[in-house]
Amino acid sequence: DTTPVVVTVTGAAGSIGYAAVFRIAAGDMLGPDRPIKLRLLELPQAVSAAHGTAMELQDGAFPLLTSVDIFDDARAAFDGTDFGLLIGAKPRSKGMERADLLSANSAIFAEQGAVINDVAADDIRVIVVGNPANTNAAVAAASAPDVPAERFTALTRLDHNRAIAQLAAHTGAPVRDISRVSIWGNHSATQYPDIFHARIGDRSGADVAADTDWLVGDFIPTVAARGTAIIEARGASSAASAANAAIDHVRDWVLGTPADDWTSAAVSSPGAYGVPEGLMCSFPVRSVDGAWQIVDGLEINEFSRARIDASVAELQSELDAVAARR
Ligand code: NDP
Repeated sequence: DTTPVVVTVTGAAGSIGYAAVFRIAAGDMLGPDRPIKLRLLELPQAVSAAHGTAMELQDGAFPLLTSVDIFDDARAAFDGTDFGLLIGAKPRSKGMERADLLSANSAIFAEQGAVINDVAADDIRVIVVGNPANTNAAVAAASAPDVPAERFTALTRLDHNRAIAQLAAHTGAPVRDISRVSIWGNHSATQYPDIFHARIGDRSGADVAADTDWLVGDFIPTVAARGTAIIEARGASSAASAANAAIDHVRDWVLGTPADDWTSAAVSSPGAYGVPEGLMCSFPVRSVDGAWQIVDGLEINEFSRARIDASVAELQSELDAVAARR
C-alpha cells in the first residue's frame, strides 16, 4: 500500500518528539514504501520551535515525507489522522502533588481523546508516551466512545527493551538471541519485568531467574530505575531511546511481531490475568493482522503474581484519583 498515511505527533518540539520525527520520516516506523504526512501538534509557545524542526525535516529531503504541518489546535491536528503519537504531556513541577499531575494530564488527554473520536480516521491507532502514560491512555480511550478501546495503547516497549539489554549484559547472550521477555503493569517504578518465560541464548529465563539475589537486587530495580539513572548521567531524560521504543511499538503493531516471540505494550485489559477490565495495563502481546493480542496461557508463579498485583493496584489507584477529580 503506497497511499500516504497521516501521522500526528503531539509535543513534537520536545526532546522525544524531536528524536521521533526524523525516524518516522526515514521510514523506520511504517516501512520503506509508505509515504508520510506529518502533523506536529504543539502548545502555542512551542509552535516556533516546531517550525524549526519542520525546517530540519525539510532539509532531510526524505523521499517518503510528503508534507509537514504544524498546529496548536488538536481538532485540526487530528483531522483524518491514521496514527497518533501522544508524546506531549504536562511535566511535574515543583511542589506539585501526584494527584495534581494526574488531573492536569487527564484534562489534556480527555480533550485529545474526544477530538480523536470526532475527527480522526476510523481505524486510527494511538500510542501514548506522555506520562503518566497508562492512565493518560485510559482517559483518552474513555473519551473516545466510538473508537474501539484496543486502538489506544501506552508505551512500555522502552521498559521491554531495557530488560532485554540488561539480560544481554548479564548473561553475555546477544540481544538477537533473547526473546519472550514480558513487562507487566504500569510504566512506573512498580512495573514488573518478567523473565520466567524468556529464552536467553540456550538458557531458559527461569534458569537465569533462579539467581534470586540478582533478580530482586539487581535486574528488576535496574530496569525500573533506568530512566532516573539516565537523567543522572546525561543531565536530561531519555529521549532517543524512548522515541526508538515508540517506533518499535508502532512498527510491530502494523507489521507484526516476529514469529516465536512477543513484545510488551500497555493495552486496555479485557480482564486477562486477573487485571480489571479497562485498566491500561502492560502485558506480553503479539500483533496479529494489525491488532494486539495478549499472549494467553502463561503460568504466573507466586513471585510474579505479587508483583503484577502491586503494579495493577497502582494503575487502579491512578484511575480512581483521576475519576475523583473530574
Ligand atoms: P519529553 O519529550 O522528554 O517527554 C514527553 C513525555 O514523555 C513526558 O511526559 C515524559 O514523562 C514522557 N516519557 C515517557 N516515557 C519516557 C521515558 N522513558 N523517558 C523520558 N520521558 C518519557 O518532554 P519535553 O518537555 O522535552 O517535551 C514535551 C513537549 O510537549 C513540549 O514541547 C510541550 O510544549 C509539549 N506539550 C504538548 C501538549 C499538547 O500537545 N497538548 C501538552 C503538554 C505539553 P516524564 O515527564 O515523566 O519524563
